[in-house]
Amino acid sequence: MPYTDPPNTDLSEQDKRHHIHPFTDPKYFDERDVLVINRADGCFVWDNEGNKILDGMAGLWCVNVGYGRQELVDAAANQMQALAYYNTFFQSATPPQIQLSAKLAEITPKGLDHFFFANSGSEANDTIIRLVRHYWSILGQPEKRYFIGREKGYHGSTLGAVSLGGMTAMHAFDHHILPEFEHIQEPHWYAHGGELSEDEFGQAAAQKLEQKILEIGPEKVAAFIGEPIQGAGGVIDPPMSYWGEIQKICRKYDVLLVADEVICGFGRTGEWFGSNFYGIEPDVMTLAKGLSSGYLPISAVAFSDKIDGVLREGGPVVHGYTYSGHPVSCAVALANIELIEREGLIEKVRSETAPYFRKCLNELADRHSMIGEVRGGGLFAGLELGRNRATSEPFLKDEQAAVICRDHCLQAGLIMRAVGDAMILCPPLSITREEIDILIDRADTGLRQTAQHFGL
Ligand code: PMP
Repeated sequence: MPYTDPPNTDLSEQDKRHHIHPFTDPKYFDERDVLVINRADGCFVWDNEGNKILDGMAGLWCVNVGYGRQELVDAAANQMQALAYYNTFFQSATPPQIQLSAKLAEITPKGLDHFFFANSGSEANDTIIRLVRHYWSILGQPEKRYFIGREKGYHGSTLGAVSLGGMTAMHAFDHHILPEFEHIQEPHWYAHGGELSEDEFGQAAAQKLEQKILEIGPEKVAAFIGEPIQGAGGVIDPPMSYWGEIQKICRKYDVLLVADEVICGFGRTGEWFGSNFYGIEPDVMTLAKGLSSGYLPISAVAFSDKIDGVLREGGPVVHGYTYSGHPVSCAVALANIELIEREGLIEKVRSETAPYFRKCLNELADRHSMIGEVRGGGLFAGLELGRNRATSEPFLKDEQAAVICRDHCLQAGLIMRAVGDAMILCPPLSITREEIDILIDRADTGLRQTAQHFGL
């Protein structure tokens, strides 16, 4: 059925009255309308006033195959008709969930062949906390409970996931993170590199993990968790020397290595997973977002053969969600993976669109002295804003430069995200060169207007 606008044109007002928005200051709505999106196709979304906007964030870093894919709609409808729901508790399973597990075993890095399903990245990460502690307990080391994450790391919003993450504003929000969670500095060379070369800084940043493990005591450290490229923290891609060193340290102290692939997974970097991009061999991986391209909520945790072997000896897994392995979500995820394969989307990102995207972003930076750094990997970028690249003069925090730039970009018809002083891009992997040109053109307009706003 074709889409028709709802008769009520006052959706924004209704929303303000009844809806508590995540990650939004309610005061923001005193002066502005809610951005109501009511339709989408490919890389574009339409708002309630009919504006066609290029979605430079793939929703919330998730719509990897782009919007409006009939194959995914059909997969959901067919599965709903056959079996809308059954659970996976108590020795039960459904065909899509079984097939998805087998398919994931094929595409995830070697040895990561065992999957636990949940509905969000947060739930998947909470699952990791519980199952990893259980794993060490089965091995007779119940005191191995600490998790080490990174500052500006993002792993979700539930109590466990927020504690894994290193977002200070989130920790301050309810004045509490769980005990036995520690964080080390994020490997951002531009921000913390000082006199070190990129390579040296990567090594030094990784060695902070060793220092932290020794400070806590290796016998108490269960795992280290990191996003291959940090997303919500501002798209921070570490030096190439970083992950190898991290891995060595984890192995040395018998600490499990968890790669949170919620954003990096399913092609974002031009490889299936960020772990492939950096040559990481994790023991555990978190999957969500691109797993179903956001068409339905689903997440999964991949465990290594070794961990699975131990868990099988440890009695019942006393953990699970009503919708773990939901058959409709699994059917959509399977159709999504098939589509990625059929269209060669990952290869296209690696050899064609990502290099073109980088080239265009570097040229954009050449035109705007406000852009201090272009960072990221694949179709995943952060542009660090400052008053002047040549003098490295930053904006003041109160100036909210990135937020102002984000609003100008939206006016120009482009959704970008603001993180600190960085502008973030993470478009659908299906984006074409022509659409990248449109994206850059609109970012250019937004940046010019931001420069004008600050009299630069
Ligand atoms: N991990 C990472 C790396 C993420 O980026 C996110 C969400 N942005 C999460 C976990 C949490 O996922 P969710 O919002 O689905 O709980």
